[in-house]
Amino acid sequence: MDIITRFAPSPTGSLHLGAVRTAIFNYLFTRKNKGKFILRIEDTDQERSSLDSLNQILDSLRWLGIDFDEGPYIQSERLENYRAIAEEFVKKGLAYRCYMTSEEIQQLKESAQKENKVYKYPRTWRDRTDNPPGLDYVIRFKTPDNKDIKFYDTLRGNININSDVLDDFIILKSDGYPTYNFSTAIDDSEMNISNIIRGEDHLSNTSKQILIFNSLDKTPPTFTHVSMILGKDKSKLSKRNGSKSIEDFKKEGVLPISIINYLARLGWSHGDQEIFTLDEMIELFNLDNLTKSPAIYDESKLSWVNSSHIKNIENKELIKILEMDFFHGIDVNQALNAAKEKAKDLLALKESLKFCKSEEVSLDNEMLESISTKEVRETINDFYVESLKLDSFEKVEDIKHLMNSFLDKKNLKMKQVALPLRIILTGSKVSPGIYEIISIIGKEIFNRRIKKYLEL
Ligand code: GLU
Repeated sequence: MDIITRFAPSPTGSLHLGAVRTAIFNYLFTRKNKGKFILRIEDTDQERSSLDSLNQILDSLRWLGIDFDEGPYIQSERLENYRAIAEEFVKKGLAYRCYMTSEEIQQLKESAQKENKVYKYPRTWRDRTDNPPGLDYVIRFKTPDNKDIKFYDTLRGNININSDVLDDFIILKSDGYPTYNFSTAIDDSEMNISNIIRGEDHLSNTSKQILIFNSLDKTPPTFTHVSMILGKDKSKLSKRNGSKSIEDFKKEGVLPISIINYLARLGWSHGDQEIFTLDEMIELFNLDNLTKSPAIYDESKLSWVNSSHIKNIENKELIKILEMDFFHGIDVNQALNAAKEKAKDLLALKESLKFCKSEEVSLDNEMLESISTKEVRETINDFYVESLKLDSFEKVEDIKHLMNSFLDKKNLKMKQVALPLRIILTGSKVSPGIYEIISIIGKEIFNRRIKKYLEL
């Protein structure tokens, strides 16, 4: 059977991490099975949906590199289709118009609450044949009595829900928009979706969607309801307990592959392996290796995954991502290699490469003060004289050797030389190791920066 999957976000805010992970699982599963991946925007909640949020979602997916074969299909552009099917359901006796006002429903809910009962729509209009003119109505589904609704979940096995726990749920609202369960089931059947992978918070919706599939005479897809992502406090992940948006991560210097890798590993595993390339994830992803237990979001682990990917990234690629110019004379590869080893994110990496951007380094007052004593000046001057012994700074080993013999000769400690030298050469306290810095900038720039300092 051809694999066809979909990612179906509602544009009611920026993409939360649970949704991103759902997109990733669908993406990996589909690419692995050489299937078709569809993007569908579920914007039938008129009040909560916004264009802003839709654009944010599309931007985030693009930035993550999660690409689609079809779509985005926008549900609000397909309203006629849902309305026609709802009317057809009415004609066939599968659904009915309900003219109950929201005030009446509110009253029923309140009295149910007073009696400590769960509110259930009392089917008032289910068998009525009158259609009061000029009144708003919704269309409700005629939920069958005492019917076992069965479906298979690849992670949870056979599931059976008795229809008596459901009420006659609304399929078309009075504003003419479909409800989520209705439009989702219609689209999933019309788009021939073979597999639905989504959060377990949708388990209770699935039984309603199966009823719609049955009424459409369509076979439901195979379901996989993945466990939720929880915060460290074990409650559902939200802004309050650490969740961030994709835009936040982008601003904080996290690579798209780090997010994909980290989130894919939350709830899926392949032995003990933690770091994966995208191709590896596509090759290895398997629904059987998903875990049922909830995953705990841990930002420090994401940070570790990010620094691991930064180390692995090709320099050519990194230069593009950093959008940074290097001063002529800098050994760019050496600079990137040294910076990658230490950086925890792209912001730190960029900061640590500031000394490679232009000929001049700028020093703030605090830095200037720390290097303006007579002792420091003498030490730097002496080190400069010592450095003249080396013709080339190409080899880091040579510089290390030079430094060690200088420290011995002058009876100085490493930090007495390295600290001021780092400031003079880079204008920064975060940068690669001092030997690497000297080698990266090379003899000519080294001499210029030192002389400029000595002339201050
Ligand atoms: N629009 C739904 C959501 O964002 C999609 C759920 C589904 O995948 O069916 O939660």
